[in-house]
Amino acid sequence: PRLVVAVDGPSGSGKSSVCRAAARELGAAYLDTGAMYRAAAWYCLDQGVDFDDEDAVAVAVEELPLSISTDPDHQTVTVGQADVTDAIRGSAVSEAVSEVSTNRRARSLLVDAQRRIIDEAGVVVAEGRDITTVVAPDAPVRVLLTASAEVRLARRGLQLGGEQSAESLHRQVLARDAKDSTAVNFTEAADGVAVLDSTDLTFEETVASLVDRVRA
Ligand code: C5P
Repeated sequence: PRLVVAVDGPSGSGKSSVCRAAARELGAAYLDTGAMYRAAAWYCLDQGVDFDDEDAVAVAVEELPLSISTDPDHQTVTVGQADVTDAIRGSAVSEAVSEVSTNRRARSLLVDAQRRIIDEAGVVVAEGRDITTVVAPDAPVRVLLTASAEVRLARRGLQLGGEQSAESLHRQVLARDAKDSTAVNFTEAADGVAVLDSTDLTFEETVASLVDRVRA
């Protein structure tokens, strides 16, 4: 059977943990497209690509030797021989990733790669910023996962184990959302996309709400 569950949302909306848990419950594959943008940014940094050179960024993404697992229980991302699963979560990559995501050629290459992975996966929960609108607009289940800014920042703080000050996190997350929204609009649900607002929901309730939409 083939079934795509498309989920978009801003940073800190809890997308990744919610989608991974939903995929586990559904026995589905899980695709974190943000990890692909992050791996591309990691590769650009590793190769010393000049981010002011849009062509150089696009060429790097064209050559990107990326492999990403779609097992919700074992998320590994490798670039060539390097396991970058942890490195792509670091601040260097977080700060550089918008240079990739705002590059039109790079986006189009990554979108093609995402569509191939989704096609092969069969039943898959795919999450990002443009899954409901660009990558899989025909998906039978399309959800925009949101939460108030306060709640998103609080959850993010928890995720990082409080190693960064709330204020610097706040600035980073808002700056990244602002940059990202120049490339794709993920703050409003497109036609036919359901909004799942998790502000007042527990993690379990949010997962259940997503799973129920698939089973409905
Ligand atoms: O979801 P995550 O925060 O890991 O995504 C990292 C970055 O990848 C985002 O800030 C955004 O720039 C980019 N991204 C995107 N389109 C997607 C997924 C992620 O532009 N579908």
